[in-house]
Amino acid sequence: MNTMETPGPFKPEDFLVEAAPGVARHDIDAVRQPNARRSKADDEAVGSWAGKPAIYPKLARGIFRNVKWIVMAVTLGIYYVLPWIRFDRGAGLPDQFFLVDFANQRLLLGPLEIWAQEFYYITGLLIISALGLFLVTSIAGRVWCGYTCPQTVWTDLMIVVERFWQGDRNTHMRRDQNGWTFDRVWRKAATHVSWLLIGLFTGGALVFYFRDAPTLANELLTGTAPMVAYAFVGIFTLTTYLLGGIAREQVCIYMCPWPRIQGAMLDHHSLIISYRDVRGEPRSPHKKGDTWDGRGDCIDCKACVAVCPMGIDIRNGPQLECIQCALCIDACNDIMDKIDRPRGLIAYTTERNQESRTSGPRDGLRIVRPRTILYSVAIAIVGAAMLWALLNRSSVDVTVIPDRNPLFVELSNGGIRNGYTVKIANKHQTPRRFKIDVAGIDGLATTIIGHDDQSVPIEVGPSNVKALKLFAALPRDKAKALASDSTPLTVTVTEIDGAATSSRDTSFRSPGP
Ligand code: SF4
Ligand code: SF4
Repeated sequence: MNTMETPGPFKPEDFLVEAAPGVARHDIDAVRQPNARRSKADDEAVGSWAGKPAIYPKLARGIFRNVKWIVMAVTLGIYYVLPWIRFDRGAGLPDQFFLVDFANQRLLLGPLEIWAQEFYYITGLLIISALGLFLVTSIAGRVWCGYTCPQTVWTDLMIVVERFWQGDRNTHMRRDQNGWTFDRVWRKAATHVSWLLIGLFTGGALVFYFRDAPTLANELLTGTAPMVAYAFVGIFTLTTYLLGGIAREQVCIYMCPWPRIQGAMLDHHSLIISYRDVRGEPRSPHKKGDTWDGRGDCIDCKACVAVCPMGIDIRNGPQLECIQCALCIDACNDIMDKIDRPRGLIAYTTERNQESRTSGPRDGLRIVRPRTILYSVAIAIVGAAMLWALLNRSSVDVTVIPDRNPLFVELSNGGIRNGYTVKIANKHQTPRRFKIDVAGIDGLATTIIGHDDQSVPIEVGPSNVKALKLFAALPRDKAKALASDSTPLTVTVTEIDGAATSSRDTSFRSPGP
């Protein structure tokens, strides 16, 4: 690829300066300098919004850009397609592979059903994800930020659309500098309409995770969906448009806490993207026939700055703003190929390696370190605990909620009666039959409303919860003989045609001795 830009009517001299034969020198300064702080006057001028010159990231080409295209296609593909994948769970049950079923308080993931009372599985999954992120960060730096963070992926997508309508860096800049021509206005309008459509599809896809996707899509299109669905589509459309299209890198720099937190996971052996100043300096343009002796390999073409979506110059050293997207590596490798110098002037390296290069041989990548061992052990422990819980998971669950007001009722014969709401959750995808036993107090008589004959099993539908009203009554003399006003009771639900059982402790309230 020839990096000589096509000169436009806007400041053509900017693109005719050569950094080396056939290599243009970009007239660009980093939008952000390390440790730059806005003055009070700046703050007053821009208000709470961080004013900045526009960033026009140039399209990079190379291995890392290709990896980012693949990651973008896979992550967006999963996000948009997942709610449409079907999974047969049997008659009367949702056939959506992944569904957050708020109405029935459960999460469905293929054959797995996580009920509201089993939320600890989700907590465990979140803990494993967080520890996994810590581990990856301690080994490979900000790969999450650079490749897979939704903010990065959607911003990348918005930039693709922007380039489609307004051209790559130089063309886009030229159009912006030429005033509000008709050409510029319609291209800007097309860009923003496209961003809003992406936002609409993003918001639309998200609501499909919470209700049967084909049904909800039909309802949304025919105007019969619940208002809350339209509200959330609207909210997500707007936030995607604002965060991915308008705010972009400002989200990473000013809104996201992760860049500050991830510093705690990095050490001298973590991979970072770095400019090898030992090799690159002193930098200067290189003329045809000049020797490379006594100078660095950096020809100061600033291609690395031109492609940076964060508007920084990696040659200024590690910076908080750098999301480690590796596009500057691609840009610089491309330049090195053109000037016939070795690749890797900007590359993944470690702080330790950077230091050792100045003094001696290169230090290899050390993945096994105390912190990576610690994170791996923690992941293994939480993973094993979750696996154990999953393998020993009961297929029936009972919850018992005692009446609070009144705590007990004194019957006309002097006996004492307590009321309970008993909920039986059948986690199988077939109907099942159960019986209820109450133990803990001799002489306790139980009745279930609507279920007079307790020898008849209680039937609970597939993946369903049945709520029953249970009364437990004790004759006057036995109630008087109780040692306290709160006596422990155990309610046990047992499957009639199987071995599943679940118990819950509660108490029997009375006036006391
Ligand atoms: S580091 Fe590479 S891309 Fe950046 S200015 Fe130097 S030669 Fe150009
Ligand atoms: S400096 Fe390089 S790695 Fe960092 S954000 Fe810019 S292009 Fe990406």
